[in-house]
Amino acid sequence: MLIVQKYGGTSVGTVERMKAVAERCLRTQRAGHQVAVVVSAMSGETNRLLELTRQLHEDPNDREVDVIISTGEQVSVGLVALAIRAAGGKARSFLGSQCKILTDSSFARARILEIDGQPIKDVLAKGEIAVIAGFQGVDDKGNITTLGRGGSDTTGVAIAAALGADACEIYTDVDGIYTSDPNIVPNARKLDRISYEEMLELASLGAKVLQIRSVELGMKYGVRIHVRSSFSDVEGTWVVPEESSMEKVVVSGVTASRDEAKITLEDLPDMPGIAARMFAPLADENVSVDMIVQNQGYDGTTDLTFTVPKGDRKRSVQLLTDKVPDIVGTKGERISYDDEICKVSVVGVGMRSHAGVAKTMFELLAKEGINIQLISTSEIKISVVIARKYAELAVRTLHDGFGLSLPPADRTGL
Ligand code: ASP
Ligand code: MG
Repeated sequence: MLIVQKYGGTSVGTVERMKAVAERCLRTQRAGHQVAVVVSAMSGETNRLLELTRQLHEDPNDREVDVIISTGEQVSVGLVALAIRAAGGKARSFLGSQCKILTDSSFARARILEIDGQPIKDVLAKGEIAVIAGFQGVDDKGNITTLGRGGSDTTGVAIAAALGADACEIYTDVDGIYTSDPNIVPNARKLDRISYEEMLELASLGAKVLQIRSVELGMKYGVRIHVRSSFSDVEGTWVVPEESSMEKVVVSGVTASRDEAKITLEDLPDMPGIAARMFAPLADENVSVDMIVQNQGYDGTTDLTFTVPKGDRKRSVQLLTDKVPDIVGTKGERISYDDEICKVSVVGVGMRSHAGVAKTMFELLAKEGINIQLISTSEIKISVVIARKYAELAVRTLHDGFGLSLPPADRTGL
């Protein structure tokens, strides 16, 4: 088999840890596999480099920042290749430009356009281990680019897709994806497997472990991703295409997101074109609107509520007041907002085939006296907006109520 192993910052954080990485790569190779390794910068290094740029310039140029922060991974590939050699193996390091990870020119958040897998395949065919720098790429003019924080995960999955690898193992400092954040829910369970779609819907739970873009890429190319710990040999969580057995589990995870704020517009004229005009200034300024809830009016007016990233709330209210005063009132009379909210979601592909999940969710929250402000659903997710002070209580209540601390086979009812 061909296996891509991606090691995060803590997994290559010290020379000792790098020796452990080398051992694991060689063990995998000895088991009869071809191994390509993608590595992050040593933990703390990217932050250290970013801090240096800020000491020189308060708003540093993105192209130059990429030249600087990509060096963390350059150091790691060289050192890991050396560690493998020191342990008796054969290895060769690759920078993003050397295995042609071609990206667009959006410095600091570049997207991968194409990877030439041939140089890596040649090395693997010779029985060597390819050690590839994560996070970095090169644009068509030869500029160094980076993929955004946590981007080595995306490099790992992209390399796995380009090589047609059998699996992409993501080695990190946690042993998998849990049914909820273990810091909030102490009896959260590690998931054996989860579908790409669920993982994307659980973004705020998963994002700490896996850059979300890597999951999108995995889904697009069908890369099987195994999130696991570099500190042990236990199986982690597989992020894979949906399987029919997954439908038996109605709810896979519960998550809370605290980084949104709510904006409400009351008594808007109930006629065509109002919503279109209202959201235009927000779209033009790249405010990404999340939940949108509107109800039909019966007196010629309607109320509309939506959420935006907390950091964009102030700007959004200002934009609406400035750009569409005829709709929101010249002093924003119709606008109100609430920054103290939280979005709690339950996610599971089994919802497609099971009725009653929403009812159970609402009952569980009601029993705790938690008021629901907004509700929205997708095929595999139900989200509610509640007051932020209830976030942890709501997550724990739903986690217990849906029996997520039990093995799936032992859960009764919903
Ligand atoms: N070193 C980069 C960062 O810290 C990329 C990564 O580790 O995935 O964001
Ligand atoms: Mg990471």
